[in-house]
Amino acid sequence: MAGAYQSPVSLLHGVGEERAKAFAGLGINSIGDLLEYFPSRYEDYRVRDLTEVKDGERVTLAGTVYGEPSVRFYGKRKSRLSVKVVMDRVVVTAVWFNQTFVKSRLSPGKEILVTGKWDKHKLQITVSEMTEVDSERATKRGELAPVYPLGGDVTHTLLRKTIQLALRQYGKEIPEILPADIVERYRLMPRIHAFHSIHFPENAEDGRQARRRIMFEELFLFQLKMQTLRKINRQQTEGVALAIPMEEVREFVKGLPFPLTDAQKRVVKEILDDMRAPHAMNRLLQGDVGSGKTVVAAIALIAAVKAGYQGALMVPTEILAEQHVQSLTKLLSDYGIQVALLSGSLTAKRRREVIGSLQMGLIDVVVGTHALIQEDVFFSRLGLVITDEQHRFGVEQRRILRNKGLSPDVLFMTATPIPRTLAITAFGDMDVSTIDQMPAGRKPIETTWKKHDQFPAVLEQMRDELRKGRQAYVICPLIEESEKLDVQNAIDVHAQLTHIFPEFGVGLMHGRLPAKEKDAVMQAFLAAEHAVLVSTTVVEVGVNVPNATYMVIYDAERFGLAQLHQLRGRVGRGSEQSYCVLIADPKSEIGKERMRVMCETTDGFELSQRDLELRGPGDFFGTKQSGLPEFKVADLLSDYKALEVARQETVKLVAEDSFWRDEKYHWLRDYLKNEGVLDGVVFD
Ligand code: ADP
Ligand code: MG
Repeated sequence: MAGAYQSPVSLLHGVGEERAKAFAGLGINSIGDLLEYFPSRYEDYRVRDLTEVKDGERVTLAGTVYGEPSVRFYGKRKSRLSVKVVMDRVVVTAVWFNQTFVKSRLSPGKEILVTGKWDKHKLQITVSEMTEVDSERATKRGELAPVYPLGGDVTHTLLRKTIQLALRQYGKEIPEILPADIVERYRLMPRIHAFHSIHFPENAEDGRQARRRIMFEELFLFQLKMQTLRKINRQQTEGVALAIPMEEVREFVKGLPFPLTDAQKRVVKEILDDMRAPHAMNRLLQGDVGSGKTVVAAIALIAAVKAGYQGALMVPTEILAEQHVQSLTKLLSDYGIQVALLSGSLTAKRRREVIGSLQMGLIDVVVGTHALIQEDVFFSRLGLVITDEQHRFGVEQRRILRNKGLSPDVLFMTATPIPRTLAITAFGDMDVSTIDQMPAGRKPIETTWKKHDQFPAVLEQMRDELRKGRQAYVICPLIEESEKLDVQNAIDVHAQLTHIFPEFGVGLMHGRLPAKEKDAVMQAFLAAEHAVLVSTTVVEVGVNVPNATYMVIYDAERFGLAQLHQLRGRVGRGSEQSYCVLIADPKSEIGKERMRVMCETTDGFELSQRDLELRGPGDFFGTKQSGLPEFKVADLLSDYKALEVARQETVKLVAEDSFWRDEKYHWLRDYLKNEGVLDGVVFD
């Protein structure tokens, strides 16, 4: 914001070079930073009636010092200072530990305000903070005092005093930046009022309203940025506008062994519309495990190829890459489309061949891991990139492609359904297509939770399934035995099961196998030579063996709900009834709750919402780059309604011409400029 807001804190009375440096340590440089250094909570200094106070409660009491204070020393440098104080006509003892210096301030007859822990039985308060009522800080009586996240040399007293000063000197200049109709519609506290009240609320409700206003503003500005980015992207016409021959696409869809679900039809339309448009597509495709994202991807690829372009599919693992090559070849080769694999497991010779063919345009669709778009790989006419993985196809990848003279359409598929609040936050600048319907005739996977000692019974059930000609996965958290963790490992379990099921082939799969061997094991499982596959979570995403109907997950409490759901999604992919058995002895209530949730629902969106609630937004995406912004006040879990409202309002706002012109919106445009969102953009 303008003027004083950006002035350095040293402009304030009493803030010299040294203090300015201390403030800088907290990230406070300008007066605006100071005003936006919000308290994390309030300390309640309001005096209460003694009879209402419970034992052990933190409380502030007012009273008069009665008699002389006394000090007792004990141990090494330890002391106990006590004094009698008359409060509400009751004599209580106020106690300080290791603070003998307080003694000089406790002359008889003095009125004091003490805050601390109340001992109901001894009628005693252990003091953590004291104010002399006749001092100039007497105004503290009856207040909610702000408590800030502190560090370094800045004390609460200094921070409170400096903020108060800043508010007094510059508080009148705080502008309203949100449009008046929005402030009114959502009954938001005016900005100037909110900045005063969030620091020094008159009462609890005043503080709540201030926080609500600032939280809304924070989410609003964030969404404004996202929606502006989205608008800019859609306005730029350097993408390729594909002329898609729809008859050929329709013919392909007709040739599928099943009709598309309504949800699949809807997202296909959204995607093809984007591909036809002159802007580069930037779209997220999400859908539950087994909802049929791969077919949608294949349709987008065929559309790109038939329009004369090449397509690339990027996946997180080599196993998946190979599997996608197979399934895409099966789907697309009848339509004259050349699909090739480009991955680390290729021989140098084969790699050179593939790269050469790509460059000459002899390959239509290439599948591989991230390295696909890097280094020495060049395309003849790349029109569509699909990524099937958890992390984003980010700025850097776009830059690499642009440097090769390419601005392809990008479709990002997530294997994990993302709760809406996180989706519109982490992917706020993207368009989102959601497949919210499963193909007809799917039988929900029957999920049960068993303790470790029930494993023999589980083995019997598994044997029954195998005898019917079905296949099974057994998932273990570790590859090999660990001294530190008492959990199952794939190598031991593989040995045991080989012994228990001599009549069936048992395969072993984990991330440390050489690529060739992984491939061989996967092929053997696909061909049903292995009836059982013991594996770590490398089979988590995308692996598709419809004949597998039984899954056991060992030490299931070690996995997140979203991950368990992904694993479970490896079965139930055919027409037969499938089963998933979670083996777990969770100790915590949350752990037990998670097992129950898994048994109760097979809806990935519901599960991911429960997962978010149990683990919080930070952990939801795991250790991978989450793309989640950090908010000062807003909380994605509790403020999700405001987030949704902010999104709707900003979508409308950036679409209006007046927003880019009218004087009344200049604060918001300034904000976008300061954030660098409008760099190099001309609106006419
Ligand atoms: P996802 O990638 O979303 O987990 P897939 O695309 O692998 O799901 O599809 C799972 C299975 O469902 C595949 O065997 C696929 O052939 C099948 N499938 C996809 N769409 C349909 C549909 N509309 N009707 C019936 N089966 C379908
Ligand atoms: Mg898939």
